[in-house]
Amino acid sequence: MTPTDLRTFRRRLLSWFRKNARALPWRATRDAYAIWISEIMLQQTQVATVIPYFQRFLERFPTLVALADAGEQEVLCLWAGLGYYRRARDLWRAARQLHEAGHGTVPNDPDLVRTLSGFGRYTANAVLSQAYDRPLPIVEANSLRVLCRLFAIDQDPKQNVVQKQLWRLAETLVPRTRAGDFNQAMMELGALVCTPHKPDCGQCPVAAHCQARRTGRQDEIPPRAKSPEIVAIEEVAAIVRKFDKLLLAQRPDGGRWARMWEFPHHAVNPGEAHADSVVRLLETVGLEGEVQEELATIDHSLTRFRITMTCYAVAHKRRAGALKRYTDAVWIAPTKLTTYPLSAPQKRLVAFLQEQLLWTKAQG
Ligand code: SF4
Repeated sequence: MTPTDLRTFRRRLLSWFRKNARALPWRATRDAYAIWISEIMLQQTQVATVIPYFQRFLERFPTLVALADAGEQEVLCLWAGLGYYRRARDLWRAARQLHEAGHGTVPNDPDLVRTLSGFGRYTANAVLSQAYDRPLPIVEANSLRVLCRLFAIDQDPKQNVVQKQLWRLAETLVPRTRAGDFNQAMMELGALVCTPHKPDCGQCPVAAHCQARRTGRQDEIPPRAKSPEIVAIEEVAAIVRKFDKLLLAQRPDGGRWARMWEFPHHAVNPGEAHADSVVRLLETVGLEGEVQEELATIDHSLTRFRITMTCYAVAHKRRAGALKRYTDAVWIAPTKLTTYPLSAPQKRLVAFLQEQLLWTKAQG
């Protein structure tokens, strides 16, 4: 783009954003801490899902100091259901790092911010441009698509060389002032107009600058990644009852759902009967029990895995060894289950059991 084109491009995009931007809670603030929370929650998660989590989180932890002072399990509890829990742990860790270094919010210091847990180049630049108007570029899923189409980049955007090219282009586009608005405008254009399928070029404020549109290739750019093959997994879960309490177990450090709590569950071996699989599952929590009726089936997806988890009531008999797959276990009253951080499928299981009024049965 010539310098004149670039000025026109920025003016058109910003003017469109002023009129069309969605009123989102994190757009009503310049508080770097609140913007940071929103940016982390929005990673791989839709806006509509994030809004209530963002509001609850800020109510409970209105400042960085409040977050740094909280316990990890409390932070995970508020995050429960949002997925990608590593984000919550990194957020909490970064809040503590900043608090220990004497900061009360995310500082206006790119070099420092990039050293914190969970801050990649995108997150650091998004937060600092929105909170402090730092002229830093961003590239994420929506703006990446817009950039590819504007400059007719038809190679796989995951390639390193293409990534570098996109960041360079983003750097040339971002203005010296109003960088935060500009970055948000690029993302908003990708979310509302320059969508993955059927971009609405007729409504696009920067259509005159778009090379993909000029050559009629907006539907082909960027090239679509091949969908991964779906893998079906069969699991069993054990709802173990001992008097009026149920067993929750804590997952180990590292891996998916690290340090979160759940009803024990695992994958059924090929050809294995469910009852046998539940007995094998009980060994991993060091218990013997009587496998009783099937209570519920929970279907959920994890990346390319489609998991069907069949949940069985189990009456506790006796201890039979140490914990194996889990690091801790507690017997807990059914009403207290949600005070522990549970993943989305585990929360659904709790809700399902409550809905079916099965607690009475589970409590004997
Ligand atoms: Fe996207 Fe169409 Fe606008 Fe180009 S003209 S940026 S393809 S919406």
